Amino acid sequence: MIGGLAQHGHGKKALLLFDKMPKDDVAPNHVTLVTVLCACNLAGLVTEAKNYFKMMEESFGIQPTQEHYACMIDFLGRAGKLDEAMDIVKKMPFEANASIWGALLGAARIHKNIELGQLSAEMLLTLELEKSGTHVLLANIYASVGSWDNVAKMRRLMKDSKVKKEPGMNWIEVKDKIYTFTVGDRSHSRSKEIYAKLEELGDLMAKAGYVPMIEVDLHDVEQKEKEFLLAHHSEKLAVAFALIATPPGAPIRVKKNLRICLDCHTAFKFICKIVSQELIVIDINRFHHFSDESCSCGDYW
Ligand SMILES: [Zn+2]
Ligand SMILES: [Zn+2]
Repeated sequence: MIGGLAQHGHGKKALLLFDKMPKDDVAPNHVTLVTVLCACNLAGLVTEAKNYFKMMEESFGIQPTQEHYACMIDFLGRAGKLDEAMDIVKKMPFEANASIWGALLGAARIHKNIELGQLSAEMLLTLELEKSGTHVLLANIYASVGSWDNVAKMRRLMKDSKVKKEPGMNWIEVKDKIYTFTVGDRSHSRSKEIYAKLEELGDLMAKAGYVPMIEVDLHDVEQKEKEFLLAHHSEKLAVAFALIATPPGAPIRVKKNLRICLDCHTAFKFICKIVSQELIVIDINRFHHFSDESCSCGDYW
């Protein structure tokens, strides 16, 4: 239950439940503590996380494992305390694994730290070759600071090393049937309506202040083509289809095989407000509940 609450962005409720455990004579184990640290992480509770981390050994006799350290590093990275996070990496009794370097790469992207981005990408590539997500994230960091030469270098590297970007795909269930979407997909029988819906939403979003983040698109194509691809990302198509195919007011649930991209994440905050509908995207990392112009992940995923 603690894990479930945390996954869905109810960090504080998760912690309340954990605090009840000793009163009910239920001893936590190391898994409980991982979920508790995750809950703090998702709710942005820095002091609490540090306290629980300390309490683990002192109060519950649980030795922190690699996973607990990973939570703390992820957490500090999210809060922008990159030096403190690296300090833990150096001092902890394990070699940092792929999930730790992955967390640091994510933090580097958010805080636009090229140096940390390069280091963590390099470490990730030695630990797990052929994972295209690493190149893409590093390219995103370069793009966010306008380092286009390096973006181009990444693109060439991905091409040369035959690292194929796993195509983004989304699923949505409407009336007991599963529909799949890829970028720029026109195979759906209601394709015309879907594209019209996106156009209509695009106008309303622009009026509300949405600006497409062209830089997240790494396709090697012209600017105009990029804009077109971005506007028709698979998750946007899936959401547009849901809007025309489900009854108004029903929550929309979309599943994605990769991380949700930064632009779609921003776009969905606008869309849920415009259509006054709850929107849930389940990506490879977590649940994103969009409502009232914000997401339950607190913009960290
Ligand atoms: Zn997208
Ligand atoms: Zn989110």
